[in-house]
Amino acid sequence: MQYIDPHIHCVSRTTDDYIYMSRAGVVAVSEPAFWAGYDRSCAASFGDYFRHLVDIEPKRAAKYGIDHYCWLCINAKEAENVELGREVIKLIPPLLGQPTVLGIGEIGLNKNTRNEITIFEEQVEIAATHDQLILIHTPHLHDKHKGTAIICDVLKNDRRIRPERVLIDHCEEHTIRMARDHGFWAGLTVYPVTKVTPQRGCDILEEFGTQMICVNSASDWGESGPHMLTDTCREFRARGHTTQEAIEVFYNNPCRFFGQNPKWKHRVIDTSEPANTNRAR
Ligand SMILES: [Zn+2]
Repeated sequence: MQYIDPHIHCVSRTTDDYIYMSRAGVVAVSEPAFWAGYDRSCAASFGDYFRHLVDIEPKRAAKYGIDHYCWLCINAKEAENVELGREVIKLIPPLLGQPTVLGIGEIGLNKNTRNEITIFEEQVEIAATHDQLILIHTPHLHDKHKGTAIICDVLKNDRRIRPERVLIDHCEEHTIRMARDHGFWAGLTVYPVTKVTPQRGCDILEEFGTQMICVNSASDWGESGPHMLTDTCREFRARGHTTQEAIEVFYNNPCRFFGQNPKWKHRVIDTSEPANTNRAR
């Protein structure tokens, strides 16, 4: 079977991870811009990071037969410094035309502060002005519900933002309904230390249905890994779901969301004909 990891921070991962993904059937990944594990000292540091995302990492991924796409932004954590945030935002529009940039992300909130909201709103403005897809980071643990509500409010109050062009990531049982009720895509992050386990991920898929959900590993510099995506698919199949259903979740859904940007080149597989699914590895 072929997989897409819709959210992974490849710059923090080893070559062994690329080899694993290639063997497991991952054919494409999308990498949102995020915190590096430390606060960067200046806007120029983000300029180098964006070059890494736009130029270097696609070449690295290509060696393993994986298509690498990315998203640009200043993350919520470093957005606490509004002055720095505004300098970084200026670097983004000239890069939006690059062939592997899918949109603005992962923007959102971390501690739900006034400064974070200011920079979040300014990046939504950039997305709206340049007609970009949006990938949203929602806060961790106890800040998640309130933060998701604030984010949904900001997005719904802007008439230029079409909800089907936004993915609210790191949803859990208590926030997924909020994302979907507003018509947004939902992201399910399988990252057992702070987020969802493969079992919980499958419970959520079964309880809420598989429409407009993208499952991802969000692998980064922490205790995480690309195998969380494939382990979730194994758990999904072990529960009796068919190959066609697995393709819908782990391949077709990311293609549907990302495919709204014409730069995305993978196409939805027709799972209505069993014969077509035989071609999937
Ligand atoms: Zn992330």
